[in-house]
Amino acid sequence: MTDTRIAEPASTEADIAVLDHWVGGAPWSGESHRTAPVYDPARGIVQREVRLASTADVDAAVEIARAASGGWRDASIAKRQTVMFAFREIVNARKEELAAILTSEHGKVTSDALGEIARGLEVVELACGAASLTKGAYSENVSTGVDVYSLRQPLGVVGIISPFNFPAMVPLWFFPVAIAAGNAVVLKPSEKDPSAANWLAAAMTEAGLPDGVLNVVHGDKEAVDALLVHPDVRAISFVGSTPIAKYIFETASAHGKRVQALGGAKNHMLVLPDADLDLAADAAVNAGFGSAGERCMAISVVLAVDAVADELVTRVKQRMATLRTGDGTRGTDMGPLITGVHRDKVAGYIDVASADGATVVVDGRDDEFDGDPDGFWLGPTLIDRVPTSSSVYRDEIFGPVLSIVRVDGYEDGLRIINGSPYGNGTAIFTNDGGAARRFQREVQVGMVGINVPIPVPVAYHSFGGWKDSLFGGAKAYGEHGFDFFTQEKAITSRWLDPSHGGLNLGFPQHE
Ligand code: NAD
Repeated sequence: MTDTRIAEPASTEADIAVLDHWVGGAPWSGESHRTAPVYDPARGIVQREVRLASTADVDAAVEIARAASGGWRDASIAKRQTVMFAFREIVNARKEELAAILTSEHGKVTSDALGEIARGLEVVELACGAASLTKGAYSENVSTGVDVYSLRQPLGVVGIISPFNFPAMVPLWFFPVAIAAGNAVVLKPSEKDPSAANWLAAAMTEAGLPDGVLNVVHGDKEAVDALLVHPDVRAISFVGSTPIAKYIFETASAHGKRVQALGGAKNHMLVLPDADLDLAADAAVNAGFGSAGERCMAISVVLAVDAVADELVTRVKQRMATLRTGDGTRGTDMGPLITGVHRDKVAGYIDVASADGATVVVDGRDDEFDGDPDGFWLGPTLIDRVPTSSSVYRDEIFGPVLSIVRVDGYEDGLRIINGSPYGNGTAIFTNDGGAARRFQREVQVGMVGINVPIPVPVAYHSFGGWKDSLFGGAKAYGEHGFDFFTQEKAITSRWLDPSHGGLNLGFPQHE
């Protein structure tokens, strides 16, 4: 059956459809005629175009959101939760359909796409419990006959700007919480894989969300900038690369908005000599090459203590030889990169590594690929003895390139991790509880795994890094999410009691 929410993939060049925005509960074309190509990265072709909103388009969408926000703010908590429960059921029942969209536009393999959806659904389930998470507090008789209580109220219209690498999960980190808390949303997803956002918005409409409460506006910098300065947008949630995260934080803050801007990463995994080396090798391969390394929580650097480094490299290499890269619908382990330009950029680091004196142990350019020869392929790549002065170590490569940096012990490893400008995720592999405890205390990183390679916190904790991986302090989802999308109001009340009258111009004190 044809799904009218998603532009049909092209079968010929003349046949390219254009994906609309989703505004006011229906597809919407806006006034801008600019578009961008959306690739099928496993075939290396443009499969559809996506509209790029003008400032006027964004303004129109914000106005629709603003108009819808009043009614939604007044909807009971029970009604908001009912929509979330229904949405959860729809997504769960049709997750294969959404996973196919993710594989087709992002390229990630089907099992990984389903994993992304499952992690996003965790946040929907959290939002089903909004009643508990938006409760206020009440203190009776703070002074004689006086009570103080606090309420959590929605902000109004909030903007969400998301990256290409999790086209479903990252929007799901934010909009269920924002909406369950009573806000209206304008979501600007990545223009590289935009269809998942329309699918999710249509599912929210089907779940009973009033029109205009969740809007999807596609676009590039023009659309983002329009959201950052719009006076009716009260808060911005951003996820993407560090330079853009910093720009978003500075610009939106300067326009008086609440901002959480999650940036890029370079995640280290420290392997101590007493670690279970099979467990560590499995973890390095899974976290290094899952989703072709296009994860903000990917392990991109293994810090291997000299005593076990050779053995660890051998075991990682053995495992890499078993991986199949190719079309994500064919049961492969790893799919293509997002664009041809990005694939070439990532592959370029392999030459940089050789020039900088590192050892290329496995060169992913030599791999065989189970898919169309025009796909944006690069196989898993392992580079040993990477100097920390090399851009291979310093840059966020965001591809299937795993670097090994050799260290002489715990202190050396910790020094390198804490010297990184990023602080998103890290992991330690050891069987020494004392070392692990020291690590969790001393490491300057927001999310830490102990014998766990991708420590993405569950929905009832919060997700976010330190340093250049998060600007603005508030993390995503969990209690931080509900705090971010609500404003607290404290009320001090006294009901008439004839015994408490009279004039007193002094600062109020408790009696
Ligand atoms: P990106 O920064 O290029 O784009 C993110 C969003 O910003 C997109 O919606 C894009 O349209 C918009 N954008 C891009 N350039 C802009 C500009 N000049 N002005 C205004 N808006 C602009 O990121 P990406 O390539 O889509 O995603 C990958 C990056 O996201 C990686 O750095 C990755 O680490 C990061 N990421 C971080 C997390 C996290 O939780 N910290 C999670 C996922 C991805």
